[in-house]
Amino acid sequence: MEKKIFYAPVNHPRCGDDLEHPWKYAVPAYRVTPHVWNVGGQDDVCSYLFDTGEGLILIDTGYRSSLYLLIDRIHSIGYDPRDIKKILLSHWHWDHVNGCAALAALSGAQVWISKEDEVFHQRFKDDTSEMPMVDYTATNFYDDDKPITLGRFTIHTVLTPGHTPGATSFRWEDTDEVTGKTYRCAMHGGIGVGLMTPKMLERFGGKKEEALRFVKDCEEKLANWEVDIPVPSHLNQGNVLPNIPEDRSDYSVWVADYAWRESMLSRAQLVKEMYPEDYDL
Ligand SMILES: [Zn+2]
Repeated sequence: MEKKIFYAPVNHPRCGDDLEHPWKYAVPAYRVTPHVWNVGGQDDVCSYLFDTGEGLILIDTGYRSSLYLLIDRIHSIGYDPRDIKKILLSHWHWDHVNGCAALAALSGAQVWISKEDEVFHQRFKDDTSEMPMVDYTATNFYDDDKPITLGRFTIHTVLTPGHTPGATSFRWEDTDEVTGKTYRCAMHGGIGVGLMTPKMLERFGGKKEEALRFVKDCEEKLANWEVDIPVPSHLNQGNVLPNIPEDRSDYSVWVADYAWRESMLSRAQLVKEMYPEDYDL
């Protein structure tokens, strides 16, 4: 498959650096797989809306200040946020969870997170030294042996510690009824390796073993997944922004069956370079 330049990570100013002015970073809703849209509404953290045919699932909920964009994006593609049945959180950090409480109150949705990260949610929910957390109530915890099912979707969870102790990745298949083609899709729940330096692990109560586990998981397990559409949790993980197509419903631009493996291996390499004493580099 011809390689697409947009899967190279990039740095750009983004909503998370300027939370007072989320409208400056507004991004339309766009489709990523046949029945999944990014409705995050800004150029930083993604929120994925799954149309299961029997209600909606949302992976991650963005910032508190960008919540109005998320709700607007859901409406803009013809869905109702009150139809969200399940909210799946990739990890406990503020940029993924701060819209959760309001969305759960609006929809009555279940709120899922890993047991491991719920511990950190409880530990940091009142800590205002970093980004303020908006507290929410978890109702369900992932069991990687029991996929989450609703309507057309079966979403497999995989505990992938490193970025946080309970970061959770997601895999699913999605079929385009028009072409009959089924796509294997995956989102890693925490490939921000900056949090895996010794200093950052200490700041947030992570352990070196989790960083080393991240490397092992990426190299020995995740890189071997066959993924047609790699779904980023932040737009800058794949230079997504300039590549959103004019036709927002055209998910075909995101099909890149080489990109997942490359991404997993390159992230693992970055972490290995943080711990040279543990690896032959
Ligand atoms: Zn994070």
